[in-house]
Amino acid sequence: MAIEEPEIIDTSKMSAGQRAAIELTEAARTTPGGKTFVAGLFMGEFNLDGVSPFPSQSADDRARGEAFLKKLETLLREKVDADEIDRTGEIPQPVIDEMARLGAFGIKIPTEYGGLGLHQTNYCRAAMLLGSWCGNSTALLSAHQSIGVPQPLILFGTEEQKKKYLPRVAHGEISAFALTETGVGSDPAAMTTRAEPAPDGNSFIINGEKLWCTNGTKAGVIVVMAKTPPKIVNGKSKEQITAFIVETNWPGVEVICRCRFMGLKALYNGVIRFKDVRVPRENILMAEGKGLRVALTTLDTGRLTLPAACAGLAKRCLEISRKWANERVQWGAPIGRHAAIADKIARMAANTFAMESMVLLAASHVDKDKHADVRLEAALCKLWATEAAWEIVNDAMQIRGGRGYETGESLKSRGETPIAIERFLRDCRINTIFEGSSEIMRLFIAREMLDPHLKVAGAVLNSKLPMSQRSRAAVKAFWFYARWYPVQWLPAIGGGVRNPALKRHLSFVARTARRLARGIFHSMVRYGPKLEREQLLLFRFVNVGAELFAMTATCLRADQLSEGRGDGEILRVADYFCKSARLRIEENFRHIGRNADHAGYHVAREALEGRLTEVERGIVE
Ligand SMILES: Cc1cc2nc3c(=O)[nH]c(=O)nc-3n(C[C@H](O)[C@H](O)[C@H](O)COP(=O)(O)OP(=O)(O)OC[C@H]3O[C@@H](n4cnc5c(N)ncnc54)[C@H](O)[C@@H]3O)c2cc1C
Repeated sequence: MAIEEPEIIDTSKMSAGQRAAIELTEAARTTPGGKTFVAGLFMGEFNLDGVSPFPSQSADDRARGEAFLKKLETLLREKVDADEIDRTGEIPQPVIDEMARLGAFGIKIPTEYGGLGLHQTNYCRAAMLLGSWCGNSTALLSAHQSIGVPQPLILFGTEEQKKKYLPRVAHGEISAFALTETGVGSDPAAMTTRAEPAPDGNSFIINGEKLWCTNGTKAGVIVVMAKTPPKIVNGKSKEQITAFIVETNWPGVEVICRCRFMGLKALYNGVIRFKDVRVPRENILMAEGKGLRVALTTLDTGRLTLPAACAGLAKRCLEISRKWANERVQWGAPIGRHAAIADKIARMAANTFAMESMVLLAASHVDKDKHADVRLEAALCKLWATEAAWEIVNDAMQIRGGRGYETGESLKSRGETPIAIERFLRDCRINTIFEGSSEIMRLFIAREMLDPHLKVAGAVLNSKLPMSQRSRAAVKAFWFYARWYPVQWLPAIGGGVRNPALKRHLSFVARTARRLARGIFHSMVRYGPKLEREQLLLFRFVNVGAELFAMTATCLRADQLSEGRGDGEILRVADYFCKSARLRIEENFRHIGRNADHAGYHVAREALEGRLTEVERGIVE
């Protein structure tokens, strides 16, 4: 159960813009009752409760998913021409209609509202299938279900709202989510779209313009974020953001233009204008002023779709690369026998297995409880998988050589198989930008990572609080750290798996979680409230946490899959993944102590001030 918590971040020395952003997102934050596996890792704990043995789908749930997934797979293979969709920039209406007939617009919507009522794992498996085939279809269905109307409505909708809208969106009425504006990317505090209460008291009037609204040009209903009048909280005026369900055929809703991008050529994405749009009060989601919480909580689970789709894409790249590396002979051997190409293939296989394991582990928590707190797990999946997928597609292009860079159409015209790696690359690039860019994901994870410390010691450092309160907090913090800190130096052992090599890797995870917790604590002591500005340092801690989560998910799943099987190939994949992850972890730790961050920051400042004229000389301006 989520509860609100008091202000624990000192915003007194921040710029007005930064303070507004922090205060708004802090107010929208919820804190869960219990601690998840990943949250524990950042505090030096290695508690496998709930993750070991690796949670597997029940046979019944799997069978229910299978029936739908088979139909979806057939539809994709037989009716969805991903290259043609990319070339024309349109998903044919019959394909969309067929998807709707299969129930693909209502995968997670409960059956009583006309959906398929499948669980998160089955939804992720659908995203994986889609991601392996067509980025545009993935984006259509994912924006509709992961961030559009279904997910927030399932989580926060009133019974009337659910009865009114869920059957419509389940049967194929397309939905979208509109937060971004020209001046609002990662920072919602700057929002200018406003919803003013109408004199009748029963409705709001929305005015504003939303940018890059995926599905917006085809949607029947959109979740729109708008500022409602500020409220006085503790004597201070607080900005309010409210989420509204808006029907696009209401007077005043207008699609201004369709936006086009480097990839995802058939994205139905546009600029949507709202001019004096009257929205009934009953179309508010959750409550007035809770819009950001609706958005953040929706994304907590919604964020699992992208990494699932990335896992599908990565599998596809592996299949293509494997075949080509066997078939293509250069310098007297299939290119897969050359160590440089073999290295890419090994990394591709290991990272693909890891990303799928992370997603399935996080999804299993949501299967058990749709309100489960997976914000850290989902954010780590999103961050890690989107970055790994980008590297995988890039490597697949390198392995395919010139054919990787050539379009599918051109390959076909020369009589070769139209394998469009260049399309995958174009479609994949956006994944580290939308639904929380990698930088914002790292900041978000860092905030969660520091949360237990802020709860214990935040008040000590908060200069806005009276001295008496700070002194009391200091005593409390002293007693907490007097017990907690020495434990972080004790040896730790892993467990949860049978295979000896994987056991050793999990012991490394357990030990390293303590090293990570010590490192975070030492940095807090060293930098105090200024730690928030040390982004690169925080990001390295986040990177270590992400690798530890990936290693755990990988080992547990490999152990489960290998049970009762004679072959050890999946164990070797997991072992190789862990060996590589350990090197990346060591590198992050090394760079915490020794780096060129400050020198780099100075160079960036000089570049930003336009003083690197020599470096920029010799170009067409
Ligand atoms: C194809 C596409 C589809 C989209 N679909 C939707 C949609 O359906 N609905 C919707 O509401 N929005 C949508 N968006 C918007 C998308 O979510 C934003 O692009 C994203 O949030 C980033 O915002 P921005 O592009 O304005 O970047 P900015 O916020 O301006 O950031 C620019 C860069 O600075 C970095 N940065 C920003 N702040 C910080 C910081 N504090 N510290 C370090 N780095 C920072 C960012 O990570 C990024 O690299 C879509 C965008 C695209 C391109």
